[in-house]
Amino acid sequence: MESADVAADLSGVLHTEAEIRGRIAELCREIERDYEGRDLLLIGVLKGAVMVMADLSRELKRDVDMDWMAVSSYGAGTQSSGVVRIVKDLDTDLSGRNVLIVEDIVDSGLTLSWLRANLQTRGPASVEICALLRKPEAAKVEIDARYVGFEIPNEFVVGYGLDYAQRYRNLRDVAVLAPHIYS
Ligand code: 5GP
Ligand code: MG
Ligand code: MG
Repeated sequence: MESADVAADLSGVLHTEAEIRGRIAELCREIERDYEGRDLLLIGVLKGAVMVMADLSRELKRDVDMDWMAVSSYGAGTQSSGVVRIVKDLDTDLSGRNVLIVEDIVDSGLTLSWLRANLQTRGPASVEICALLRKPEAAKVEIDARYVGFEIPNEFVVGYGLDYAQRYRNLRDVAVLAPHIYS
């Protein structure tokens, strides 16, 4: 049986709950400015973006619509393959909409580059990306994410929505998973 005490599974905290809250507030002020006078549709990528979406959407001092997509990147473990499948599609018609994709993390960039291209075929007015985290060293494709919370080192992180084998999503901080857990 899995242990309920996760402290021994982590090798350190990268960003605390308070830091994340502060950074999300800064991003929200930018988003409010950039989308002033225009509609805004937030699209959260399940399941990792649930926490970012919840906090970002409530911090925004304006009206937004929200929808969700679930995609699965073939490949197990801690590596993304770039072959993406839609597990749950949007309910929303994107014609003429200003879409902001809300993601937990840009790692290789393969998932987001596929997703942005897919959404772009649906006739939106614009498609931008907001990711809480980005690993610059891991980028396989250039991703133009307009809003990025934190640049982080190339380590496997969990918490604040991010999982390893579906665990650790409910940790309030973003922490590095101790390598002995997955190797
Ligand atoms: P990418 O396609 O950019 O390589 O990443 C796709 C997905 O892999 C991310 O949306 C995220 O769900 C997962 N991922 C990438 N890096 C990490 C990480 O450090 N920790 C966790 N928990 N998931 C990650
Ligand atoms: Mg994700
Ligand atoms: Mg995951």
